[in-house]
Amino acid sequence: MSSTTKTTTPIPLSSKRAGRFDPKAKTACIRTFGCQMNVHDSDRIRRMIQDAGYAEVQRYEDADLVILNTCYVRENAVDRVKGHLGELNRLRREGRVKRVALTGCIGAAEESAALRQTYEIDLVLGTHNTYELAEFVGLPTMQETYTPELPGTEGGHNAFVTIMTGCNYQCSYCIVPTVRGRMVCRPMESVIGEVENLVAGGTGYITLLGQTVDAWRHEGKRFCDLLEAVSESAPRVWFTTSHPSNMEDRTLNAIGERDTIVKRLHLPVQSGSDRMLKVMHRGYKAEKYRRKIEVFREAAPDGTLSTDIIVGHPGETEEDHEQTLRLVEDCAFDSAYIFKFSPRRGTEAASLPETVPDAVVQRRFLEVLRQVEQNAFTRNQRKVGGEEEIYIRHGSTEDGKAIGETWSGHAVHVNTDAAPGTYVKVRIESAGPHVLYADETGTRA
Ligand code: SAM
Ligand code: SF4
Repeated sequence: MSSTTKTTTPIPLSSKRAGRFDPKAKTACIRTFGCQMNVHDSDRIRRMIQDAGYAEVQRYEDADLVILNTCYVRENAVDRVKGHLGELNRLRREGRVKRVALTGCIGAAEESAALRQTYEIDLVLGTHNTYELAEFVGLPTMQETYTPELPGTEGGHNAFVTIMTGCNYQCSYCIVPTVRGRMVCRPMESVIGEVENLVAGGTGYITLLGQTVDAWRHEGKRFCDLLEAVSESAPRVWFTTSHPSNMEDRTLNAIGERDTIVKRLHLPVQSGSDRMLKVMHRGYKAEKYRRKIEVFREAAPDGTLSTDIIVGHPGETEEDHEQTLRLVEDCAFDSAYIFKFSPRRGTEAASLPETVPDAVVQRRFLEVLRQVEQNAFTRNQRKVGGEEEIYIRHGSTEDGKAIGETWSGHAVHVNTDAAPGTYVKVRIESAGPHVLYADETGTRA
């Protein structure tokens, strides 16, 4: 992860390549925007179109059906989707694309009605009725079959497993509760069953997913119980995203103690100012967040810590901003997603007075970014010269570099032709603020 704004560039959907393009087959192209939840939802959508006999293609112009699975968290995500819809209208007029479906968080928002009309979209679905796509592609509608419990594409080296959907918080700025609804937790047996199937199919890395995974609870069990159980079944485990109010010391200690859990914590703080945390309805104070970080650093001294920060929320003063800078320095994050506040219609913050001027937001953004990068660079330098075992997440590209991850959660660029899903021993040769650079030492696990 990098200490920069989160990208809304379409994410490659899975490590699996689409099948060979057969010009006679029905074809579909899926584009994913936004977070890992959406990547996972796209995996389920992929399942449906495959069941319906579509071949997946990568280019719009090769597709009978295009499905845009979208994000609504910030306005620039919507602008990007509008750009794609404009392009698709042109291709449809030329007869190169037949039908367009819009799914995901934009589909669940009020704005989707206007988009549907402007761009003549054939099908608009929210996040709760994605299963209706089944009918659209010619399958019987099977709500119970295409629900969040349906696993994505199985057998990849890395797999996401959704443990909960929705969110019960009401953060002032956030559209997620509106478009994803209230929290629903999957039963423990269902999660463990899916993990066991994936591992039996060759998956080496499980990421537990949800908007506030640490809020998971079911029949008296809490998130740490689930994490521990998954860590018994899976060879490598990570989870995201967590909420500071739900994060238990027990979970932080389990990260340090359990060999199969990657020692990487993503704990969004949003602001270092208690005043702003209150305005945002985050439900904790900066001091509580600092204490959590102390527990994590003690449990996993070599582990990596990342966060989300919003700059320029309405009402944010210079003093609030200074407090965020102080917290960033104290916590010494290894990386951070820093967001400029984006007003979302229907959220409380969108109608608050005291908006922060763009130039001030930009300056604060750069100040936080600089602070995060300085700390990250210093921490990464300590790794240089060390020997590490890394897990290869993405195989080598044309420049011969593969991307791996240490057990401490550091991203590593390494010269190796090792396949994704394998472990490689490396020596860290150098480090930047975002990534470590390494050479393979020749021993493969
Ligand atoms: N559930 C997680 C939590 O509580 O921290 C975050 C999920 S949210 C989809 C991902 C991040 O987007 C948030 O942590 C926040 O920093 C950012 N975000 C959400 N709404 C935003 C907005 N209106 N403007 C800017 N950033 C926003
Ligand atoms: Fe949004 Fe996260 Fe707050 Fe839920 S907890 S409202 S997902 S920022």
